[in-house]
Amino acid sequence: MKQDIKKFDENIYQIDVFMENKPGRMSCYYIDSNNPILVEVGPSNSFPYLISSLESLGISEVKRSAMTHLHLDHIGGVGHLVEKYKNHFVYIHELGLKHLPSPERLWNAVSKVYTEEWLSTNWGEIKPTPLKNLHSLQDKELIDLGKGRKLEAIYGPGHAKHHFTFYDEVSKTLFMGDTLGLIYPHGDFVQPNLPPPDFNKEILFKTLEELENLELEYLALAHFGIHKNPYELIENAKQSIDTWIGFVKNLPNLSLTDSAKTLSNWLVANYKILGIDEETIKNYITNVNFEMQIEGIKNYLVQQKKNP
Ligand SMILES: [Zn+2]
Repeated sequence: MKQDIKKFDENIYQIDVFMENKPGRMSCYYIDSNNPILVEVGPSNSFPYLISSLESLGISEVKRSAMTHLHLDHIGGVGHLVEKYKNHFVYIHELGLKHLPSPERLWNAVSKVYTEEWLSTNWGEIKPTPLKNLHSLQDKELIDLGKGRKLEAIYGPGHAKHHFTFYDEVSKTLFMGDTLGLIYPHGDFVQPNLPPPDFNKEILFKTLEELENLELEYLALAHFGIHKNPYELIENAKQSIDTWIGFVKNLPNLSLTDSAKTLSNWLVANYKILGIDEETIKNYITNVNFEMQIEGIKNYLVQQKKNP
């Protein structure tokens, strides 16, 4: 089975779980401290890749994991994790306790956006996680990694209201989930990821400003990988989000499909002006649901009008 594992400072492993069978789409992290933890599990279909990578590192049991948020590309495989490792313990936002033991509602809601067929084929079906395996996180909760090392869970809404980021003070790594956006391999810029119903610029920027105050060496993104210029990337994300909102605000009255097409065409043109190579542009454009981005921004603009 194909593998791509990179080791960073303080025994942090970046593991590509080949989401949708493609490299560089979703990374999970294993912090191999005295009391180790896995960050993110990925969708169900990625689970065999995750396990084979962990086993190649000599890890035959994973006792704990921390989930950034409840989107299925991040937590789809959590039921598999709990089934494979007896007494496995999952740290997650409290909404996880409501949805993961009977994930049908979550599945149905996501199916409406992606269609059930697409979901089953690309991310795979989800299994329930018993309540006893779940732990609801509090803001600023410290997860013990052993020998005085702690992983701090920082509540960070904006991309989703059930989003946590995780900060390791020893390596100064921030596990971002989707709070920042997307950085696909070979790209050194952030592409926003602003889905409905929760995207809210003011809330997201407040989260990013709180995270910017941490002492950071590394940003670990779910999509994708560990990056060494944290403050630059956070600024870059904020600028892009502002530009996107401005663009969508000024769109003429088009259908959703046409708005999405206009947004992606505008992006391609901008990326070309910036001198970004064709392959990288393709990565950023083909792996994104632009209709969802339009809906996320429009939903935010409507909310903003109601509560300026
Ligand atoms: Zn995601």
